[in-house]
Amino acid sequence: MKHPDKVNIGFFPTPVHKLETLSKKYPYNLFIKRDDLTGLAFGGNKTRKLEYLIADALDKGARTIVTEGAAQSNHVRQTMAAARKFGLEPHAILFKPEPEDYDGNILIDMFMGTKIHWVKRDELYSERIKVMGVIRDCHGQDPYFIPMGGSNEIGLWGYIDAIDELKTQLEMSGQKIDYIVFASSSGGTHAGMLIGKKLYYLQAQIIGIEIDKNMYPDKTVHDHIKTITQYATADFELPVSIDGEDIILIEEYNEAGYGVVTDLERNAIYTMARQEGILLDPVYTGRAFGALLNLMDKKYFPEGSNILFWHTGGQPALFAYRDRLFTRHIPGKDNENLV
Ligand SMILES: *Cc1c(COP(=O)(O)O)cnc(C)c1O
Repeated sequence: MKHPDKVNIGFFPTPVHKLETLSKKYPYNLFIKRDDLTGLAFGGNKTRKLEYLIADALDKGARTIVTEGAAQSNHVRQTMAAARKFGLEPHAILFKPEPEDYDGNILIDMFMGTKIHWVKRDELYSERIKVMGVIRDCHGQDPYFIPMGGSNEIGLWGYIDAIDELKTQLEMSGQKIDYIVFASSSGGTHAGMLIGKKLYYLQAQIIGIEIDKNMYPDKTVHDHIKTITQYATADFELPVSIDGEDIILIEEYNEAGYGVVTDLERNAIYTMARQEGILLDPVYTGRAFGALLNLMDKKYFPEGSNILFWHTGGQPALFAYRDRLFTRHIPGKDNENLV
């Protein structure tokens, strides 16, 4: 088994703790893993992936980093910060329309001095080639490209390590976990967790809540997870294999579309804030925790199960989404009635 290089960016291990108030309201023991506290410009799950991706960029002698995403991409925000920390020039290819207000994640991109290239999402592939070409002509060298969400066979290593980290924490506390529930979008977090589960013999069932049904134009998220786990197991000679049946991806909560806030997300954000004093985000963790609340209401899990919600970050988007989250701005909706 081989291991890719890694740099230190985040603060690990992230805390695991019980959700005391919510555990009293449901016939389950609820826990949370706080990857919203990984550090690096407000933290989030991309910090773990970037420890491997930046190491790879440095190994290849890169001087510039290019990545891509939505204007409110958490991945772009964290990648730009990681690039700066290692003296790399940060470029972001962002999808039009350009917002009128630079708020939330894109405001932080600006603080980092990000060079932004606006493109139409459906012209991404051809536009990316152009942007990469311009940077190459300018620097006399290829920029290092990080795919959307950092979800490739390098980035997923962050979540192989994360499972090792959780396993150690659970051994030390003597706590057993039956289910891990989290937001799965570009698939790298999910892929790393699945490999980590097999490598480190973690018993818990790993359940991804699919966030974006149109994540990849040419394949499903399920297919992408399978592909990158296969690349990783082959490239790094890992003694495990991931089959289609290992990938549990619940698709029924993505119908509203990516980044569309409904009562599911609003209710989840209010519930977590008002019961536990913890902030979720409107796009990923709000949707995934809303799904978990719904699954618990439907008794999807056997009574008495120990369930861990893996918080993946994203809170800066709360500010950019304020109009869709705070009821004073939603005519005909009463803030208090949502919870
Ligand atoms: C990117 C992201 C996810 C999804 O992780 P993937 O590895 O892309 O599946 C979940 N939550 C937040 C807050 C994110 O930024």
